[in-house]
Amino acid sequence: MEITIARKRLEEMRADLDRSISILQGERPPPLAGAGYPQDSADAGSSLSEADRTEAVLHSARSQRDEVLAALARVEENTYGRCIDCGGDIPEGRLDARPDAARCVGCQAKYARRR
Ligand SMILES: [Zn+2]
Repeated sequence: MEITIARKRLEEMRADLDRSISILQGERPPPLAGAGYPQDSADAGSSLSEADRTEAVLHSARSQRDEVLAALARVEENTYGRCIDCGGDIPEGRLDARPDAARCVGCQAKYARRR
């Protein structure tokens, strides 16, 4: 993939994630120090799980944003498209599907197993 296209796609992904994160943060009630449970017990169950869901989506959006930022840094360092573990070339098709991919398929599988 052309590096300028990769950079453009990554910047678009970052903008999308920034938007999603700020929307999610707006939906999330501000954290209360020491508390954490809503006063209204009738509604506690549903609002708590709703907050948990938002938190989970927020968490994955943030970690994906980190991946995108790391990929943009690799573009700047001219190491984009190379696996951060083995240094091998990441296949074109994989970068096309996941422009923020940091590892080749083999290393990603190993990395996923380690987690
Ligand atoms: Zn690798």
